[in-house]
Amino acid sequence: MRDVVVVGAGPVGLLAAGLLARFGASVELLEAAASPLLRTRASTVTTRSMEILALHGVPREDFERVEAGHWAGARVDLQHLDSEHAGLWRLSQPRLCATLRRWTEEAGVVHTAPWRVVDVAQDDDGVSVRSSTGESRRARFLLGCDGADGTVRAAAGIAVRTRPARHRFLRADVQGRPVAARRFERVGDLTVTSGPLEPGTARIMIHDRGRRTAFEADPRLVCALWHQATGQRLDPDWLEWVEAFDDEEVVVTTLRSGRVLLAGDAVRQCLPVGGECLNAGLLDAHALAWRLSAVLAGAPSDLVDAGVAERLAATWRGVDDVREQVDVLYGGLPPTGAPSADRADRVAGLDLADPSADPPVGRRLADRDLVALVGPARAEVARASLREGVAVLVGEVEAETVGGRRVRLLPRLDGGSTVVLLRPDGHPLVVHDPETALARALDAACPRVGVPVP
Ligand SMILES: Cc1cc2nc3c(=O)[nH]c(=O)nc-3n(C[C@H](O)[C@H](O)[C@H](O)COP(=O)(O)OP(=O)(O)OC[C@H]3O[C@@H](n4cnc5c(N)ncnc54)[C@H](O)[C@@H]3O)c2cc1C
Repeated sequence: MRDVVVVGAGPVGLLAAGLLARFGASVELLEAAASPLLRTRASTVTTRSMEILALHGVPREDFERVEAGHWAGARVDLQHLDSEHAGLWRLSQPRLCATLRRWTEEAGVVHTAPWRVVDVAQDDDGVSVRSSTGESRRARFLLGCDGADGTVRAAAGIAVRTRPARHRFLRADVQGRPVAARRFERVGDLTVTSGPLEPGTARIMIHDRGRRTAFEADPRLVCALWHQATGQRLDPDWLEWVEAFDDEEVVVTTLRSGRVLLAGDAVRQCLPVGGECLNAGLLDAHALAWRLSAVLAGAPSDLVDAGVAERLAATWRGVDDVREQVDVLYGGLPPTGAPSADRADRVAGLDLADPSADPPVGRRLADRDLVALVGPARAEVARASLREGVAVLVGEVEAETVGGRRVRLLPRLDGGSTVVLLRPDGHPLVVHDPETALARALDAACPRVGVPVP
């Protein structure tokens, strides 16, 4: 029996499988498609996602850095962010998946395709999945990264909440003809966006506020609306992958049912503004992988529940943020809250924190702050620990044993007196009362910071 079977070799399943394997789990990745998807869907990776890919050794030569993102169409400069990977990073989804696939293979992930999961059954000891051809696999945990169709989600009985669509869009890829870049340009009722995808291919997107009724993917309609808004004549023969889609929002009520977990588009669907769904999915994979590997190594299973709660809250924040951007971009509403320029952390994916948790979860520690905290040599020790999915404890703690665990300590060099427990995902938990609170934090949040004393 494997430790984990991951279903779906999209970007999220690949990252999850690779991280789990690097954290010590035996992993098989089941994929329904016989060969990889060649169409580009998402192409934007945020600063935070890039930090995770970089820490865990995903090759990054092919990514192209972009210095600014946008919030509801208004430019948001990201250069000033405190990160080695400040900015957004562009790589087409098929190339991202190819890169991740090589990285998972190096980590020992077993790839099996075509293998379409059609049924899931779990008991006290494990989860069994059955394929469309009657084969089966069994593992201690199952991670469903099978995208929006959600076979695993449905088979595990996980419900969803939906908010109905309010806007419908047309999208197409223009092959072999120049198309000028446009960012949410409004002409009458039409809003048009375009940008290069790959050399020789541009993606165009059209929203028509005047068109209230559902319309289908029709190349002639795309050409007519594009001409009306931009004056450029396109030929239907130049268009590939013409698609109509809407902004219906779908979010699960939980990411977990017993031994079955979900990540990626299986968790949420909304309009992919700023690469929201892809990047939220990559963060799901990261958040669940270290917790699951800790549970496989003996930590209590409710460690995963804390991650589920964090990801669900983050999902709603992300979906609500996209909804507000859609209201501004396509509904004509004025933006509320912070001016766009102050939204850099959100656009970069660096806004995750939970001050109300016990102990409070801080924003991920920037590498520079880690070096200030423990010094350059020990920062490398800390990074190596995070790469293994193991937490790091920084500060003066009298005993070498906390809550029955022998802890790995790094001295704090910045003059601060509180103890910082750096979770494997780089988020610090600040502990003011080491005697009691640290033991609780270790048990509840980071059991792999040390080994239990026999
Ligand atoms: C048509 C489309 C267009 C998009 N356009 C954009 C865009 O322009 N910009 C943007 O930022 N985002 C876009 N997205 C969203 C982005 O592609 C997703 O957020 C991202 O792919 C999520 O990754 P994932 O790994 O969760 O799911 P997916 O990439 O969907 O991967 C799921 C994988 O699971 C496999 N699978 C499904 N069912 C089973 C099963 N039963 N058994 C085994 N394997 C299974 C599938 O074959 C697939 O390989 C788009 C998504 C779609 C569907």
